Amino acid sequence: MKIGILGGGQLGRMLIQEALKYDDEFYVLDPKPECSCAHISFFTQGNFNDKNTVFSFGKDKDVVSIEIEHVSVEGLEMLEEKGVKVIPSSNIIKIIQQKILQKQFYEEHQIPSPEFQVILSREEEIIIGFPFVQKLNTGGYDGKGVQVIKDENDLSKLWDEPSVLEKLVDIDKELSLIIAKNESGEIKTFPVTEMVADPQLNLLDFNICPAQITDDVQTQIDKIAEQFMQAANSEGLFAIELFLDTDGKVWVNETAPRLHNSGHQTQEGNTNSQFEQFYRVLKNLPLADTSHFAYSGMLNLVGDEHHSGKVKYEGLENVLKLPNSYVHLYGKTDTKPGRKMGHINVLADSREKLMQDLIHIKSLVKVVAEK
Ligand code: ADP
Repeated sequence: MKIGILGGGQLGRMLIQEALKYDDEFYVLDPKPECSCAHISFFTQGNFNDKNTVFSFGKDKDVVSIEIEHVSVEGLEMLEEKGVKVIPSSNIIKIIQQKILQKQFYEEHQIPSPEFQVILSREEEIIIGFPFVQKLNTGGYDGKGVQVIKDENDLSKLWDEPSVLEKLVDIDKELSLIIAKNESGEIKTFPVTEMVADPQLNLLDFNICPAQITDDVQTQIDKIAEQFMQAANSEGLFAIELFLDTDGKVWVNETAPRLHNSGHQTQEGNTNSQFEQFYRVLKNLPLADTSHFAYSGMLNLVGDEHHSGKVKYEGLENVLKLPNSYVHLYGKTDTKPGRKMGHINVLADSREKLMQDLIHIKSLVKVVAEK
């Protein structure tokens, strides 16, 4: 089968890596000839935000999907009209692309998500109470395009762009659920994962799976997952990012209509990974078992803040000497401060040991530039 993917980053790379054990051809569209997928796929250099480029890339494929959501929805609609299978649907990608539509979607379908107000410019009257979080309608990623407005004095910081203003949640834990649905209607979820963020870089830091949550929280999450899949009405693999607040209530932060950083530890931590599952969605195969072994975790290898240039992974050999640690690099030649360059998955018999190992391993490696 000819599988076309818009975006050639690490998510696509790990999908192809997993799926090479089956017999398919992977085609990738990305503007950067040095992207993570360029040398492991049938590669087309081009702009996935341009509708005609997307259409001409996809028109002879059996299925077209994404590994980044900021793509031309119009191009995907043209493919759907021509009869090319697009997963997930252009409609759900369009909703998720824009924070305003995404929030309205949760509201319309009674999916719990923090209270919000929409503004189109900073001239509008602010009716939501302080403190709140401003999220740009488009263009935000990895914590960029998100800022906290604490009080009146902070209002001068407000960005003058269409945004969602969202009530600041008193967060106990950030959680993530990865869920997949195939064309036959089969649905499977992965165990809930906890995400521990790095306050400095705002880039996700550790994943811990399974999350330490009560039965009540699990029940709330199951209900959200069911509501979301019903409302989305599309096959695909989705990551639902959640907040657990200090009162024990679960809220949806946002959803990604694709493979997600919060699922990387499934590569060694579960009977099957998110990449295997996504492949099966693309081919409408029976979905894979998602059970977890013991505890698994992941740490991102991100570019050190003082280094730009040709990448060097300092201390990686010390990690390779350890049992139960698995290194994954993304094939990026150059590092930049905060750039996601790879990750390390870690397995352990207990949550305590996992945390210890993650912290230890993080101290062993540094992503720097060659001198
Ligand atoms: P991105 O899409 O860039 O990852 P998010 O919407 O996930 O942006 O926001 C980044 C981080 O900001 C979240 O992981 C969370 O820590 C914090 N955050 C976002 N919205 C809220 C909120 N309503 N209340 C409290 N913290 C929030």
